[in-house]
Amino acid sequence: MSGERASAGDRTTAPTGERAAPPPNPPEEPAVCGHCGDRFADDRLLALHRGRAHREALTDAEIEAYREARTEERDDVRLFRVKALGLLLLIYFGFIYVYAFVL
Ligand SMILES: [Zn+2]
Repeated sequence: MSGERASAGDRTTAPTGERAAPPPNPPEEPAVCGHCGDRFADDRLLALHRGRAHREALTDAEIEAYREARTEERDDVRLFRVKALGLLLLIYFGFIYVYAFVL
């Protein structure tokens, strides 16, 4: 039982964003960082890692890849925020609607 708790807790308490458990569907060939040997599920995550962890040692192409990946990441986060706000408003006005007609 303590083993289950430990494995469940590893994921949430792993320091520096390291993954304690492998992803459920690992890729055939992971993208490997040439600087430290870390493996990533795709090239975008690798580009983000290189930009964050090895900023000083990057080539121009790697810097460009990092900028592209960072822009995509920002767009994804922005889209997520808009969707989350939309869902929140839907729930909010849904409750107002229910409250108005039930009471
Ligand atoms: Zn690295």
